[in-house]
Amino acid sequence: MTLLRDDLESATDQRYFGSGWISGAWAFVLSVLALGTVLCLRYPDSLSAPEARDLYRSLPIRLTLQLVMIVGFLFAAASLSLRKKKVLGTTAMGLILLAAALGGPRAESRFSSSSDLYFGLDFFLLNLIFLGLVFVPIERVLGKREQPIFRADWREDLLYFLIGSLLVQGLTYLSLAPSKAILTRTSEAPFRSFVASQPAILQLFEIMLLTDLVQYAVHRAFHHFSWLWRFHAIHHSAPVMDWLASSRMHLMEVVCLRAFTVMPMYVLGFSQTALYGYIVIVYFWSAMVHSNVRLNLGSIESWVVTPRYHHWHHGLEREAIDVNFAVHFPMIDRIFRTYYLPADKWPAGYGVLKPEIPKGYGKQLLFPLGVFRTPKRESPEPAAEMPANMD
Ligand SMILES: [Zn+2]
Ligand SMILES: [Zn+2]
Repeated sequence: MTLLRDDLESATDQRYFGSGWISGAWAFVLSVLALGTVLCLRYPDSLSAPEARDLYRSLPIRLTLQLVMIVGFLFAAASLSLRKKKVLGTTAMGLILLAAALGGPRAESRFSSSSDLYFGLDFFLLNLIFLGLVFVPIERVLGKREQPIFRADWREDLLYFLIGSLLVQGLTYLSLAPSKAILTRTSEAPFRSFVASQPAILQLFEIMLLTDLVQYAVHRAFHHFSWLWRFHAIHHSAPVMDWLASSRMHLMEVVCLRAFTVMPMYVLGFSQTALYGYIVIVYFWSAMVHSNVRLNLGSIESWVVTPRYHHWHHGLEREAIDVNFAVHFPMIDRIFRTYYLPADKWPAGYGVLKPEIPKGYGKQLLFPLGVFRTPKRESPEPAAEMPANMD
């Protein structure tokens, strides 16, 4: 594993065209997608959402899987012939052969579960494909900072991405539970019919505004109260910002933040069309505001949250502390005097000074509970001047 990580994180002078790194990295990604898809085909009851199982068995999906395996195999062979280090090519080749041995595109369901519970492996693969296809090329072309795809801490963030996707069923259930409880305890109000009868685009705008207001309050609480900050500091501990960094969030915060923000959406009676529209928007939006993308939108930047705006929320600078809580509309930060967006400037770095966050998913999961006492890091400034929320 260490050899594989070292090769994926190779220095720029070992990743040039013709070095076998590009073909090796592609082969590795395709082999992981192929093996994951084959596992979903073999164990659909346990690894995929019930609504999508028939779709995965369709001919176009199987043909696509076949194509992915062939291209992955060819890339792996190219990498093995071009590259001195063989670990990328060998790993990718091994995973593709394993996918083939498990049935490849002809894999059939081997196990039927009597439980309704499942892990969202299919959700992880789809997330990786959609967000990766959108943001990796954009960050290559419009990247603010020169940083490789396999940058520092990419494995940690990918693990957050994987676990958040695998647990999608449980996380969704917990996030929606408070809203469902309110809905079942309140009668069908004419107000809800009125809300749902508005034009969908207006409902969409209202949802964005209301969820952002609630998100602002919850987010600010996570910064303000020290015991909540220990959970939220995990999200801020990402040392590098890109689309994948958005997934770094403690499970407790995921549930808590979603449970509060979805409340106005569900309780006020917005239509299904508006709800689904918002879910798609926020799905891409969350990755977008964290992405390493240089967007010059001029005066629009002070009206709509862009990557630079949210990057300042993650900045290490003193002036970046406790600012820019909004995720859609900077106006909310202006109203509550937490707005900060210097013209054409980006933060110098990202992360948290205090508390020092341990490395690794497991340690970060337990960290807010006080299980790990980490030694205090040298502060770059006198302790008396540390901002209150960092305590
Ligand atoms: Zn924050
Ligand atoms: Zn963030």
